Amino acid sequence: MAGFDDLIAALPAWPVILGAHLLLIVVPASVAFLALYVWKGNPFRWRKIQPGFAPPHAIRREVLYSLLTALIFALNGVFIYVSMANGWSLVYTHVADYGWLYGAFSLAVTIVLHDAYFYWTHRLMHHPRLFDRFHRLHHESHSPSPWAAYAFAPMEAVVQAMFLTILIFILPLHVTVIYLFMLHMIVRNVIGHSGFELFPRSVPAHPVLGVLTTTTHHDLHHSSRGSNYGLYFTWWDRLAGTEHPEYREVFDRVTGGPETPAASPSSTPVTWSPTAVDIENAERDSVWNVNACDAPDIADLEAPIGARPTR
Ligand SMILES: [Zn+2]
Ligand SMILES: [Zn+2]
Repeated sequence: MAGFDDLIAALPAWPVILGAHLLLIVVPASVAFLALYVWKGNPFRWRKIQPGFAPPHAIRREVLYSLLTALIFALNGVFIYVSMANGWSLVYTHVADYGWLYGAFSLAVTIVLHDAYFYWTHRLMHHPRLFDRFHRLHHESHSPSPWAAYAFAPMEAVVQAMFLTILIFILPLHVTVIYLFMLHMIVRNVIGHSGFELFPRSVPAHPVLGVLTTTTHHDLHHSSRGSNYGLYFTWWDRLAGTEHPEYREVFDRVTGGPETPAASPSSTPVTWSPTAVDIENAERDSVWNVNACDAPDIADLEAPIGARPTR
């Protein structure tokens, strides 16, 4: 494990690691925010999922906590760097050690493993005993913007960072694979919080691409808490019975529907409207806001959505 002397010895690398993590989070979030919320020519403007926009104070909170998350990820990056420099971890720098094919394979495995890690830690953080301390701050973004993607409480940021810290001792990873994995993670997360549906209309019903989570998928997790916990793929939600029962319907409504022609820029914006499930969850949210620690019981979340008790 990294000792104090090892961390000091790595001091010259600290600014580079911090800068890289800041850029990894700030650039995708800024580009998405400018393109979707500032640029008047936003080609997805009629695909806003929820009718409401995040107020300026919410955006400021999201930016602030995203920067804090970047700092926590960077500290973890320093630990990974020190582990690599001292040969403690399985991180390697010469592609020839394992070859290009293994590099591509290890990236795919890392993404699939991270999706599982995210799904189950995310569900755990919805447990009433953990929700306030770990995850409530992220859910303050009811109508998320791209800056909500990494707006985590410090405890949640540590949980998210731990995935790589554990993996580097189990799976040999080239240092480029680590950065590619992080870039993919951040871009997908920013897309998931963009507030506008960016995926083609055919994706949810597609036999292969249907396993990908869309923006609507995660947006429903924010507007209608208690379903859609997945990050990149839909399979864990489907296996565990936690996919929002009206996910496909809402997606079709937002994107104009698979059978109807694509909306034109001159058409009326297609917006999300609350379903019975959403109203029920919104009422539960309002109870949560009054009683700061009254989150749903994990047993409720284990049950299929249709079988959950009404609150
Ligand atoms: Zn959540
Ligand atoms: Zn989220």
